[in-house]
Amino acid sequence: MPLANHATSVPVVVDESKCIADKGCKTCVEVCPLDVLAIDPVKGKAYMKYDECWYCMPCEVDCPTGAVKVNIPYLLR
Ligand code: SF4
Ligand code: SF4
Repeated sequence: MPLANHATSVPVVVDESKCIADKGCKTCVEVCPLDVLAIDPVKGKAYMKYDECWYCMPCEVDCPTGAVKVNIPYLLR
């Protein structure tokens, strides 16, 4: 899978000011069926590691702080 390099083209965006991965949360990583998300060990924040997404939404729904935003492509709505 290709690495996601550009923040603007990434369908799943994590608001780092809301993410509490540095306090032990990794809910979004655990619920993602594709293991798209990961925790940045340096920043202690979740991020989209692989640019591959089913838009199934549990990451956004289950995030306790509402930090995850999944941008569903217009054609899939
Ligand atoms: S579920 Fe939310 S708070 Fe928890 S690691 Fe993921 S983005 Fe951060
Ligand atoms: S929408 Fe689904 S596939 Fe995409 S990052 Fe969230 S949990 Fe993973």
